[in-house]
Amino acid sequence: MVAAGRIETDVIVVGGGGAALAAASAARTAGAEVILLEKNPQLGGSTAWSVGSVTATQTPHQRKAGITDNPQDHLEDLKLFSAALKLEHRDNFVLGRLLCDHSPAMFDWLLSTGLEFVGPFPEPPHRRPRMHNVLPNSRAFPWLLGRHCRKQGVDIRLNSEVQRLILDNGRARGVIVREPDGTNREYIARKGMVLAAGDYSGGRELKARFSSELIANVDAVNVTNTGDGIRMGLENGGTVINGDYIRGPILRFVPPMHTTFEQKLPPLPAITKLLHWGFDHLPKRILRPVLMNYLTTALAPEKSLYEHGAILVDRDGLRFGDERDQPARNAAARPDGMAWMIFDSAVADRYQQWPHFVSTAPSIGYAYLEDYRRTRKDIFHCAATPGELADSMKLPRAVFEKTLANYNANTPTADAPQRAERPAVVKPPFYALGPAKAYIIFTNGGLKVTLNLEVVGQNEQIIPGLYAAGANGQSGMLLEGHGHHLGWAFVSGLIAGKNAALRAG
Ligand SMILES: Cc1cc2nc3c(=O)[nH]c(=O)nc-3n(C[C@H](O)[C@H](O)[C@H](O)COP(=O)(O)OP(=O)(O)OC[C@H]3O[C@@H](n4cnc5c(N)ncnc54)[C@H](O)[C@@H]3O)c2cc1C
Repeated sequence: MVAAGRIETDVIVVGGGGAALAAASAARTAGAEVILLEKNPQLGGSTAWSVGSVTATQTPHQRKAGITDNPQDHLEDLKLFSAALKLEHRDNFVLGRLLCDHSPAMFDWLLSTGLEFVGPFPEPPHRRPRMHNVLPNSRAFPWLLGRHCRKQGVDIRLNSEVQRLILDNGRARGVIVREPDGTNREYIARKGMVLAAGDYSGGRELKARFSSELIANVDAVNVTNTGDGIRMGLENGGTVINGDYIRGPILRFVPPMHTTFEQKLPPLPAITKLLHWGFDHLPKRILRPVLMNYLTTALAPEKSLYEHGAILVDRDGLRFGDERDQPARNAAARPDGMAWMIFDSAVADRYQQWPHFVSTAPSIGYAYLEDYRRTRKDIFHCAATPGELADSMKLPRAVFEKTLANYNANTPTADAPQRAERPAVVKPPFYALGPAKAYIIFTNGGLKVTLNLEVVGQNEQIIPGLYAAGANGQSGMLLEGHGHHLGWAFVSGLIAGKNAALRAG
């Protein structure tokens, strides 16, 4: 049942993440009346879950660091990332050029909204430092971009889930929205619409369709990105490119139950400017406590730990697979996708200093075992005996003891091979980090779009009035390297929003 009284505006933006906010702002700047529809109670999407790296050239930060750079070199380096993976043939460098060409202006726009970044940081094979990280964390994006849009007069409607598109003679006219009170209402766009509803990392059906049942069953970091925009595009003749290209499963420690002080910091200009100054001027040892909370909450354990003797057990206390071969994929198939990393003091002693770190974020810092003991008491376990360690992890003691005994005796089990040449786990005290969980970080399949970000429908014909941005309009781009996904969300959002306001009539 659709409620009486439809709502009309010039431009409708579906979603409330980085791409949507950029689109809404650009459409408003172009003079359109804009309604932004976000299904969650707050703005942000995966943009607010992200690390917050944005890669761009010709930024004030590069200039201040004396770095001469340009979009053409950026594009050439972007190609090196795909080449390193032998995936150039699957990448879309036509849109890649659009991304690189528009990144300088996009970054200036982000700064104009009050966002504050540190950087640029190097990230080979980029030939020059281009990665910028937002302060104090990625929740600054919805906070400041949302404020910017509201100031411009964008009508932001939360708890408003777009159900489906309305097409009239093949032209996108509007959407059906489930409103906060549970009723469905028609929204009509006099000019154009932008799909910016994020990826399908949390969308079981689309993951199964484009990848596999195993991937479909792995939880997403952002469970609410169910691929609605992609689904609506497909329902209306759109095509998804590189739907199987998925980041994950990746084993990450489960997030802490409480929010850290740093996570609570609002991105108020006074705070972010102070942080920026601190980042530029204070010694890293003073910043270290701030960085550690981040490095021990959001990141995956290094694979080298397994080489040096760490093993994985599941919720039942059983080892599974060879830890050095696709540990996250194997963990995904265990109960709840959960795993605990077990090691003895030989490994623990090694992972206290460079070059042996438990986790890292490029150019930001390294977290050692001691950092986990201090900042992640919820997942840090240490005990004199394997039995006591099992009790601390709340895993079945007898099964866990048997698992460790089998491993040390080089005895294979039904689910796990011998330890072979790897060291036995014998030197007390015994340690565990966990639980960790297999997650899908994001999916890369996006609707096929033109250089104007128009959605391509049946028979390669554009769907008039319908644009896609961010993950929805990724159109085969792999966006490898840090900071290109967010870069694309903002660049494509700005272009799609402007075009939706100006081109469609
Ligand atoms: C843990 C993590 C770390 C990352 N780190 C980085 C990084 O540092 N740098 C980088 O470049 N990329 C990073 N990424 C990827 C990047 O965050 C995403 O590619 C990018 O944010 C996508 O932006 P978007 O606007 O397309 O989607 P999103 O930001 O996900 O926004 C989509 C929005 O649409 C809403 N929505 C969905 N369905 C509907 C509907 N039916 N009706 C209304 N609203 C709807 C969602 O609720 C959501 O708010 C990271 C991703 C994750 C998960």
